[in-house]
Amino acid sequence: MKLSDIKTVEGLLKSAGFSFKKSLGQNFLIDDSVCPRMAKAACDENTGVLEIGPGIGVLTAELSKVAKKVVAIELDERLKKILPKTLADCDNVEVIFGDAMKLDLEKIIKEHFADCEKVAVCANLPYYITSPIIMMLLEKKLPIESITVMVQKEAAERLCAEVGSREAGAVTAAVSFYAEKEILFEVSRKSFMPAPNVDSAVIKLNILPEPPIKVTNEKKFFSLVKACFAQRRKTLVNTVSNTLGIEKETLRNALLELGLSDTVRGEALTMEELAKLSEKI
Ligand code: SAM
Repeated sequence: MKLSDIKTVEGLLKSAGFSFKKSLGQNFLIDDSVCPRMAKAACDENTGVLEIGPGIGVLTAELSKVAKKVVAIELDERLKKILPKTLADCDNVEVIFGDAMKLDLEKIIKEHFADCEKVAVCANLPYYITSPIIMMLLEKKLPIESITVMVQKEAAERLCAEVGSREAGAVTAAVSFYAEKEILFEVSRKSFMPAPNVDSAVIKLNILPEPPIKVTNEKKFFSLVKACFAQRRKTLVNTVSNTLGIEKETLRNALLELGLSDTVRGEALTMEELAKLSEKI
C-alpha cells in the first residue's frame, strides 16, 4: 500500500469515516520523497525509534524499513481502525495509543528498546505542540541519541538559530543547552493533506553528552533565559528585574563585570554570556 498516494489516503480515510482534526495538528504527508529521507537521517538497523503521531503510518512504515524497532505513540484513537491495516506488514512496529506529553516515555524506552544499541526520536510533529514536545524530550534527559522532526519552517529557524542572533528565542537557548542542531531540508506545504498555511522543515538535534556551557544551577539559568526573552524590546536590566525581581543595580554591575553594556538586550547575549550572568546574579 502506498501511503503517500493521495488516492490511497483518501480511500483509507473514507472507509474509516475519518475526518481531519485541526486541533490535533493533523496534516498527513503525501510526498513520497520525504519519509525515506527522514528515516535515513534518523536511524539505522541498530536503532530503536520512538515516533510521535504516526497518523496513518506513512513515516512509520519507512522507519520500520530502516530501524531495528519502532514504537509509535498516537493520541487519536480513531486511527485504531486504520493503523492495523496500513502497518500489517511491519513486524517491528508497535503502536501505543495515548498522549505523548503524558505517557512515561522513559518506561516505554526501557521496555521496548532494551535490545537496541541506541534510541532516537523521529516524527512529523503536530504543530500545536512542537516546542512543548521538543522541550519535554530534552528536559526529561531521556536516553536518546537524537531527535529528527518535521516542524514549521519558522519554528525550525528559531530552534536552530545561533543564540545571540535576532532569530533566537528562549527555546533556542534551551535547545542549545542540550543538543547540536541543524536544519536538514525544507518541505513545501503542498506535501501535506490538508495543506497547511506554511512550509515546513526537517531538523535534527543530536543530544550532547554534556551541556556546552557550565552552570551550577540549571533552574536559575533557565529562569534567566526565559526572563531575558520575556520582553524583547526592553533592555535586559529592565526585563530581568521586572520578571525575576532582581535589583537593577545588581544586574548593571554584573553586565559591566562581563564587559557588556548595561543597555544590552537579553536577546543579544551568547550562551556563554548567559551562563556567566546566571553565575553572577
Ligand atoms: N506522521 C503522520 C504523517 O507524517 O503524515 C502524521 C503527522 S500529523 C502532523 C501529527 C500526528 O500527531 C497526528 O496523527 C495527530 O493525531 C498526532 N498527535 C497530536 N497530538 C498528539 C499527542 N499529544 N500525542 C501523540 N500524538 C499526537
